Amino acid sequence: MTEKFDVVVIGGGPGGYVSAIRAAQLGLKAACIDMYSDREGKASPGGTCLNVGCIPSKALLDSSKHYYHLQHEFAAHGISTDKAGIDVPTMIERKNSVVKKLTGGVSQLLKGNKVAFYHGKAMLQAGRKVDVMPADGGDPVKLEAENVILASGSVPIQIPNVAFDGEFIVDNVGALDFTEVPETLGVIGAGVIGLELGSVWNRLGAKVTLLEALPDFLALADKDIGKHAAREFKKQGLDVRLDTMVKSAEVSKGKVIVTVEDAKGESQYTFDRLLVSVGRKAYTEGLLGEDCGVSLTDRGQIEVDENSKTTAPDVWAIGDCVRGPMLAHKASEEGIAVAEMIAGKPAHIHFDTVPWVVYTDPEIAWVGRTEQELQAAGADYRTGSFPFGANGRALAGGHAAGMVKILADKETDEILGVHIISVNASELISECVVAMEFQGSSEDLARIIHAHPTLSEAIHEAALHLDGRAIHRGN
Ligand code: FAD
Ligand code: AMP
Repeated sequence: MTEKFDVVVIGGGPGGYVSAIRAAQLGLKAACIDMYSDREGKASPGGTCLNVGCIPSKALLDSSKHYYHLQHEFAAHGISTDKAGIDVPTMIERKNSVVKKLTGGVSQLLKGNKVAFYHGKAMLQAGRKVDVMPADGGDPVKLEAENVILASGSVPIQIPNVAFDGEFIVDNVGALDFTEVPETLGVIGAGVIGLELGSVWNRLGAKVTLLEALPDFLALADKDIGKHAAREFKKQGLDVRLDTMVKSAEVSKGKVIVTVEDAKGESQYTFDRLLVSVGRKAYTEGLLGEDCGVSLTDRGQIEVDENSKTTAPDVWAIGDCVRGPMLAHKASEEGIAVAEMIAGKPAHIHFDTVPWVVYTDPEIAWVGRTEQELQAAGADYRTGSFPFGANGRALAGGHAAGMVKILADKETDEILGVHIISVNASELISECVVAMEFQGSSEDLARIIHAHPTLSEAIHEAALHLDGRAIHRGN
């Protein structure tokens, strides 16, 4: 028997489960299919984000930050302890329980919204028919839908001659589950994931070396923020080797030997463990039946237009499996927009105002254009900035590192980009996203009352500085 739905969503990550819930809220009969299983083989909706991405990495970043602060920062507050200790299995278990709570919450939300959930692997066939192979090995299930949303996510990129073995050479999944602190950890790729997971194990005592092919550090971020971050991370002991291309890696006698090429030629590094974090690629394996009509781009992503429509009628695709930044909030917002379009409502996504965050210490967050992007586009802009070293709240808390930088159009003063490196930058950026979403000007930020003493006053001062009237720094 074939069950019929208004909307079938393939993938239960932050793109998929959110779109299924929104579709159900709009009165559509919705189903969500996800194949992810937890350690006991049970369904664990929430995708990469909840299971092996955003949430577990933040749990470990928070645990490791407490340990690091206990050792390196509490003394300045007059707090001492005999000896700091770290029990890695307890830390990992805590992380696992946070994940379990949230994935269980997603199951409840799907149920509460009357979304039919299928635990298994789905394949889209022609005419929006969907075949599901249940994870428990049961008989295949056949579904049919007026609309199908593909939200199959992404997987780590593997580089030639560096094979994952799940123990010595790992991806994010392995690096979130080490049972002890490796003495030395190599990280290939100093991008967002490499820096976050590298920071976790560095704070716990591993000697961490990041091998990065590009000549610039954090090339995606604004160059001033990148420079600032490089200085801070160096102080923390993260050893970042730029312009260093990894050629191969092999495991020998319990160690990982990595061969790299840099300006001096070929050389080798030896590590106890190696994390490969060179980016992620769309995951579409076994997703698309031969005649389903969905095309892929030459980068292997599902081809979509600006409204997330694929090349097959009434088949949509969202999140990491399509173009755009691989971020959970981007996936969710696309999912909501698509559900609303299916229900006949107007919806859109502003890709220009998607915030980015790197959860290092200090955190790095930005929205809009970087200064180098504006320069490349020949834009006429003004810049304002403010250091957290002159912010009362930051000093009171002992978090004086970092700065805010605002870029605004020279003529209209519209905000073009805001870049923050500081403690809690992930929260501070929201104000700037709102301002940009409303096409606000730097003058708007300068005139808004910011509570004192708060970190947000640094945004206020940077906006004032842009107009040469900062109060707490020279102009
Ligand atoms: P996914 O979350 O990958 O979900 C896709 C789901 O679909 C998976 O459960 C998969 O098993 C399932 N699936 C695939 N094919 C099928 C099929 N044929 N049938 C059934 N099910 C299928 N982003 C942030 O915004 N903030 C962060 O702090 C952050 N931290 C991260 C840290 C790490 C270590 C990693 C790896 C990623 C992080 N990300 C972060 C990125 C974020 O996880 C992704 O952008 C987000 O999960 C994408 O959501 P999605 O729904 O598109 O795909
Ligand atoms: P991200 O996409 O943010 O996870 O970043 C991945 C990083 O890995 C990028 O900065 C790439 O330049 C880097 N990278 C990719 N391949 C290699 C390689 N073979 N050796 C070193 N760095 C690499």
